[in-house]
Amino acid sequence: MPLKVNEIFTSLQGESSYSGLPCLFIRLTGCNLRCGWCDTKYAYDEGMDYTLNEIVGFINGSNISLVEFTGGEPLLQKEELTRIIGDVDPEKTILIETNGSVSLEGLPDRVIKIVDYKLKGSGEGGSFFENNLGFLRKKDEIKFVLKDLSDYNEMRECYRKYDLGSRCGVLVSKIFDSQISDGEIAEAILKDRLNVRYQIQLHKYIWRNEKGR
Ligand code: SF4
Repeated sequence: MPLKVNEIFTSLQGESSYSGLPCLFIRLTGCNLRCGWCDTKYAYDEGMDYTLNEIVGFINGSNISLVEFTGGEPLLQKEELTRIIGDVDPEKTILIETNGSVSLEGLPDRVIKIVDYKLKGSGEGGSFFENNLGFLRKKDEIKFVLKDLSDYNEMRECYRKYDLGSRCGVLVSKIFDSQISDGEIAEAILKDRLNVRYQIQLHKYIWRNEKGR
């Protein structure tokens, strides 16, 4: 099967511990969730088919060493993705950013997983596939995006319940027009002694919501 791709672009990685690095993004078409604040609705259906060889050629021919598959939800095309990754230059670092609701099982070892945990404020709370916790390694990252204080409290509960700080990297950020300020979140993280990385959504800070950024 070909890979259905919404867009391919270069930007600065904006939502992980790789934030700030130049990155080749491949945004795949289709998503099984409908988050209230989704800024990539255009990826739900629009896209073009590429052969797997075309995508491999594009990645290996690029002079950017960091590659991220995102969406939409890229793991809806996991079989095709896995075959592509098997042929990608081993010098490339590959990130897959996923919404957390689709099984991570079977992804090649070299992939660094950036896994969302959808909180209630997203409108898709409860969508996280709990078995995925078993596939998180130290080099992977779980990501919480907060809308309000209630989301912060849910994140803290989840962090403690699953001892996330000892499993993998933990990322916390907030939506652009959140009801909680950066300062309030920072103070709460310090008070609660959470071993998380707080970050701003860099690409939005620089380019707002421009498509292809
Ligand atoms: S998972 Fe991502 S692409 Fe899908 S609806 Fe939520 S924010 Fe949008």
